[in-house]
Amino acid sequence: MLQYLQLRNKVLSEIPVITIDGPSGTGKGTLTHKLAEQLKWHLLDSGAIYRVLAYWLIQKNCEAPDVESVIHYANDLPVSFKSCPGAKSSVYLQDDDVTQLIRTVDCSRMASKISSIPEVRMALLARQRVFKKLPGLVTDGRDMGTVVFPEAQLKLYLEADAGVRAKRRHKQLIDNGIDVSLAHVLAELQARDERDMKRSAAPLRPAADAEIIDTSHLSIQDVLARVLQLVGERFIVA
Ligand code: C5P
Repeated sequence: MLQYLQLRNKVLSEIPVITIDGPSGTGKGTLTHKLAEQLKWHLLDSGAIYRVLAYWLIQKNCEAPDVESVIHYANDLPVSFKSCPGAKSSVYLQDDDVTQLIRTVDCSRMASKISSIPEVRMALLARQRVFKKLPGLVTDGRDMGTVVFPEAQLKLYLEADAGVRAKRRHKQLIDNGIDVSLAHVLAELQARDERDMKRSAAPLRPAADAEIIDTSHLSIQDVLARVLQLVGERFIVA
């Protein structure tokens, strides 16, 4: 048994992981997809897990849930992803495809609120770690490099001006048919940043060994090129 566990840990430690953390609107999601696609690695959008929990609570009319209820729902969260290496994944709550439904401003706000509860983060930790599989994992979130995958071989932290980020988020929401003003998006984004950075459990911050990239004036192609250069330096990938 001990030998099996040692072998399993050795195999796990050799699976390459790239973590991409940072606040909303820095281009983390797009970069994660493009990188996973290029490398043909698995992808974890950790924010989607917090969003599904938020969506579920809203569905259950728990608009201002007490901590006990949130922990209860987090422990039982029937979330699943349908994906294959390099492809965009769909997010399911039980049998329902909620990929688009979890992207609303209300879900963002609720996700940010409930994610400050340490027991909720603990309950969702193992669900995130199972994504670490061969040939490799690209993952995005707030605490990927600091808490969930501290062993990652390459850690990136994206940042950008709040105004630029709000414009990007606003465009995404409008493209998804969600009608909301830019001023509202900016105010929500700043409130969310503040909550995510100031919470005591796994606050948003760069890992000590993270590469920091300011994407304010970079296109996604520029960022991808910079990251692929780093990947080439750290990994042997075909
Ligand atoms: O990344 P996304 O905007 O989808 O995340 C929604 C919210 O979920 C974030 O504002 C944050 O509060 C929370 N989250 C988190 N830890 C993660 C990913 C997301 O706390 N790893």
